[in-house]
Amino acid sequence: MNFLTKYKKVLVSDNNFIIRPDGSVITYAQMNALSSRFANTLISKSVRKGDRVIMYTEKSAEALIVYIACLRAGFVFTPINPAYTKSELEYFIQDSQPKVVIVDIDKKELVRSIIGKLDISIETLGNDGTSGTFLEKAKKESVNFKDAKCKDDDLAAIVYTSGTTGRSKGAMITHENLRSNAEALCKTWKFSQPDMLLHALPIFHVHGLFVATNVTLVAGSSMIFLQKFDVNEVIKHISSATVMMGVPTYYTLLMQDECLMPDLVKPIRLFISGSAPLLADAHEEWFKRTEHTILERYGMTETGMITSNPYDSERIPGTVGFPLHGISVRVTDQSTGDILPDGKIGLIEVRGPNVFKGYWQAPEKTKVEFRSDGFFITGDLGFIDQKGYLHIVGRQKDLIITCGLNVYPKEVEERLNKISGVIESAVIGVPHHDFGEGVVAVVVTKQTFNLSEPDLLTDLKRDLAQYKVPLKIIFTDALPKNAMGKVQKSILRSTYNNLFK
Ligand code: AMP
Repeated sequence: MNFLTKYKKVLVSDNNFIIRPDGSVITYAQMNALSSRFANTLISKSVRKGDRVIMYTEKSAEALIVYIACLRAGFVFTPINPAYTKSELEYFIQDSQPKVVIVDIDKKELVRSIIGKLDISIETLGNDGTSGTFLEKAKKESVNFKDAKCKDDDLAAIVYTSGTTGRSKGAMITHENLRSNAEALCKTWKFSQPDMLLHALPIFHVHGLFVATNVTLVAGSSMIFLQKFDVNEVIKHISSATVMMGVPTYYTLLMQDECLMPDLVKPIRLFISGSAPLLADAHEEWFKRTEHTILERYGMTETGMITSNPYDSERIPGTVGFPLHGISVRVTDQSTGDILPDGKIGLIEVRGPNVFKGYWQAPEKTKVEFRSDGFFITGDLGFIDQKGYLHIVGRQKDLIITCGLNVYPKEVEERLNKISGVIESAVIGVPHHDFGEGVVAVVVTKQTFNLSEPDLLTDLKRDLAQYKVPLKIIFTDALPKNAMGKVQKSILRSTYNNLFK
């Protein structure tokens, strides 16, 4: 079934859907009318059910409503990070073969130079969401639109993975994936109509696009829709919200602002973090500053959200909680694939209505990521503790094998981060002539602490076996991170590839 058909009543209500920072409002009924116009405009451009619509624009309420229009019409919404360059975009266009590309006005020529003579329409949408050919055409279209009939496994979106190694893959997300995940999250996080979500996330990624928006749609609640994450803007609007979702960096940046105090965030009932690990220290400090315990959850592009810390019972820092309703999680041996008992580290695998349909035009790639019984191999390593909480220890490709022994970077990073004066760290494996890989730590420290390599090593040696202690510690001002605040270890590995040569 079309995900949105089930929520038709919500979509035509007069409740607020989006509140812009300037106070202007888009109600559900207005959003419904605009999405009808958008769907009709796309149909006039010969877009049909199953066709891809690329969205390569800055964040705006209108851009989000294009997503809703695509859902209603059965088009396949394909968001692309507007920070991607021409050559990256070229790949996404070639790979997804869209019918239409919607682009910021100032990037129109760039898209035109890629498309050349291909039969793909280009429409523009202004950075402020109020100008461009797409809106001009939409104004002339009808506010009525009959939603397309979709099957559960019809495609709703293709979302390209972050692609830290090799080319990004297009994850095919179905209507059922979106519906089941939004409903499970809505229940777990107790979303209801009066909720007001502070939305500062980008909408080219599953976190801001699906998790934030779809939970809001299912609950019929509202969002304060910020153009981007900006500490001052968040501080300004936070008291009007009841829930905030963010990546860990949002929380660490907010803690640098002295306005962050319990009184400021009193109306908030829930802070949610995900998309990258939130350090235990940050959890603790956030509690001290706000009297709130952040709820951490875990998910990925291919699966939507998989686990969440509980709403009512203990939220444990450093864990990502329990599988969501209807989702099964298991941990398997990296070499044999055998299911491991609790406490043992292995590959995290997941099965459920949230799991994507496969990679776009890549059946071979899809095949190797699934077990024969339908479990998807996430590529993350972790373990389930005695209480049933899932712990993530890192990506499998980030695992370091030195002298034939496994080193889980997270263990070393956690130990490093405990040292006074260390802000954050990333531990990587770098080719080493004798050891296979040598452990290297890249560390950001507070200048005033004047920490040296021997200081850190002495400290680490107290708690870590010798083979886990880094052979080299590199001091840096900042770790390379992607738009979701995730440390890009592949960049660090290539930067320091020759360190031991
Ligand atoms: P993406 O597909 O960009 O959403 O990235 C998904 C990956 O982010 C997962 O496979 C994990 O490696 C990581 N991730 C997501 N949430 C968490 C979390 N709460 N803690 C640690 N890693 C996370």
